[in-house]
Amino acid sequence: MLSVVIPSFNEEAMIPITARTVAGVLAGAGIACELLFVDDGSKDGTWKAIQTAAAENPAVRGLRFSRNFGKEAAIFAGLEAARGQAVAVLDCDLQHPPEKLPEMYRLWQEGYQVVEGVKADRGAESGLHAAAARSFYALISRAMRLDLQDSSDYKLMDRAVVDALTAMPERGVFFRALSYWVGFRRAEVRYAVQPRAAGQSKWSARTLIRYAFANLSAFSSAPMQLVTWLGAFFCVFALVLGVQTLVRLALGHAAEGFTTVILLILISAGLIMLSLGVIGFYIARIYDEIKGRPRSIVAERCGGDGA
Ligand code: UDP
Ligand code: MG
Repeated sequence: MLSVVIPSFNEEAMIPITARTVAGVLAGAGIACELLFVDDGSKDGTWKAIQTAAAENPAVRGLRFSRNFGKEAAIFAGLEAARGQAVAVLDCDLQHPPEKLPEMYRLWQEGYQVVEGVKADRGAESGLHAAAARSFYALISRAMRLDLQDSSDYKLMDRAVVDALTAMPERGVFFRALSYWVGFRRAEVRYAVQPRAAGQSKWSARTLIRYAFANLSAFSSAPMQLVTWLGAFFCVFALVLGVQTLVRLALGHAAEGFTTVILLILISAGLIMLSLGVIGFYIARIYDEIKGRPRSIVAERCGGDGA
C-alpha cells in the first residue's frame, strides 16, 4: 500500500479537490493507497473538509494538530502515522502534480528507495524570491556537499527510509535535506511546478527567512567558524597597526590618530557583538533541542480506525 502524506494549512478549498484527484490518479493506476491529511492547526474549515473527505472515502485519514507547528512538523507527523510500505509526500495545493505518483511508484517497485521529485522549473516565482531561494539552496548545498538546488518536498520513500527518518530525535527537522542525508538507493523524477489550484501561499517573506536561517544552522556550523576567521583576520590587522603605532611613538610624533582609534573601537565592538549574536543563535538551537519537546501535538484523528 502507498501512503500519501499531505500537509495542509488553511486549505479548506483544496482538500476535496486534492482528495479526489490523488485518489483518482492512484485508482486509475491500480495502486492501493491511503491519503493522510495532516491539518497543521488551520484556522479555516480544513478539518471539517478532511472529516467530510474521510466519510466519503475510507482511504482518507486525518490528523489535526493542536496548533500550527509548521510544514516540516506536519510532514514528520504524517510519516509517523503512515502505514504503507511506500510513503509519498505531496503539497495540498496540487503544485506537485499527482500524475507523477504512478511513475514514482514504478521506480520504487524496481527497487529504488527514495524517488525524488525534481523541479524542472521553479514555476511562477517573483525575481527577488527566486534569487533568495537560489542563494539559500546554494548555501545549504555547500554545507551538505550535495546539490539541493531543484529539490522539493515531493518524494516517494520506502518503509526503510521512513523508519530511518522518524527514528531521528531532532526537533528542528528539515525534510528536504534530511531525506538526502539518510542516503539509500535514489532515483529522480522531473516534474513541472503547477500553479496553485486554489487558496494562496502560506509563506510570508518573514517566515521564509526564519525558515532559511533555522535550516542552514541545522546543517552547518560555518557561521561560527566565520567568527574564528574574522578574529584571526583582526589579530593580523592589530599586529600591523600595533607595530606602526610603536614606530610612530619612537619617532616622537604619536599624538594624532584619534580618528583611527574611534574607527577601531566602533569596528571591533560591532564585530564582537555580531559574533556573540551568531554564537547565541546556535546556543538557542541547542536549548531548543535539549528541551526535548515533541515536534508537534496531535489533537484529533479521523478516518481509518479512529473514525
Ligand atoms: N503548509 C503547512 N504548514 C504551514 C505552511 C504550509 O502544512 O505552516 C502546507 C500547505 O498547506 C501546503 C504546503 O505546506 O500543502 C506548501 O505550502 P504553500 O503552497 O503555501 O507553499 P509554496 O508552494 O508557496 O512554497
Ligand atoms: Mg504551494
